[in-house]
Amino acid sequence: MSKFCLQCDDGTKLKLQTKDVTVEARGESCVVPKVTGWHCPVCGDIEYTDNDSSDRVWNAIEAMGEKAKARDAALLAHARKRLKLTQKQAAELTGGGHNAFSRYERGEAVPMRAVVNLFKILDKHPELIKELS
Ligand SMILES: [Zn+2]
Repeated sequence: MSKFCLQCDDGTKLKLQTKDVTVEARGESCVVPKVTGWHCPVCGDIEYTDNDSSDRVWNAIEAMGEKAKARDAALLAHARKRLKLTQKQAAELTGGGHNAFSRYERGEAVPMRAVVNLFKILDKHPELIKELS
């Protein structure tokens, strides 16, 4: 029996196999061992054949999301303090409401990538804060 990749949608054949899969989410990655299913050799999409494999991959994706959230929260708190900004001032700089930053730093809300990227740049080049108002 042949199955074709619905993501590639160009006749790429899926392979029924059990293999280690690298899961990436929001800049974090990890390996989930022994994932069984129909694997696409081109795009990596998986059509699962059992709940255990799909559950383990999904749990890994969720864990990566949590890890990324904790990483972003720590980065924002670190950079904001280094820039000597209050949470309110930081929120005024990035939008998202007056308590957005305290929510980001507590991990209660996920900041836009642009917010994280801005504070990554400001953390490396704090003098650039003068360019913003
Ligand atoms: Zn594919």
